[in-house]
Amino acid sequence: MYMELIQEALVAAGYDPGPIDGIDGPLTRAAIAAFQADRGLEVDGMVGPLTHAALFRGDGPAQEVTDAAGEQLTAHFKRDEFACCCEGRYCTGFPAEMNGELLARLEAVRVALGAAVIVTSGVRCPIRNREVGGIANSRHLVGYAVDCYAPDFSVFELAAAAENQGLGVIIYEDEGFCHLEI
Ligand SMILES: [Zn+2]
Repeated sequence: MYMELIQEALVAAGYDPGPIDGIDGPLTRAAIAAFQADRGLEVDGMVGPLTHAALFRGDGPAQEVTDAAGEQLTAHFKRDEFACCCEGRYCTGFPAEMNGELLARLEAVRVALGAAVIVTSGVRCPIRNREVGGIANSRHLVGYAVDCYAPDFSVFELAAAAENQGLGVIIYEDEGFCHLEI
């Protein structure tokens, strides 16, 4: 699923990863490496956070990849939307980066709904996680979970769209949001 999204993004960017089969084979790795070389990224044939960001930022001219807070991670989500909600009290915002596969699936949910998805909690530092009552080994600590809601949809509709994308879902009906994770 995730590798298929990568392959489709490579095709959209003008590279040939071979068949769209979700398999991380030699053709796909070669296409990733060619993409990385053209964008001035480290060439390793693997999709890390910077390559992911470059791939899903669309097909505009190559841009400098920076750590800027407003960096566009997918078509609809910016990096700063996922910053730790302690707002700088206990960490600098990103004790971990958001996982690329989670981002790709969240983007797919956003596209499927065709309407805004608002992130209420992305990554969390351990102190903030404890403060909000998160479990000790919360997926939020490592960027593998996101809490969000879609203003135009119920939490159940959002949950169904997320499950369709293979995400783990916990519905917080009273609070009006869903916890999504991989
Ligand atoms: Zn924090």
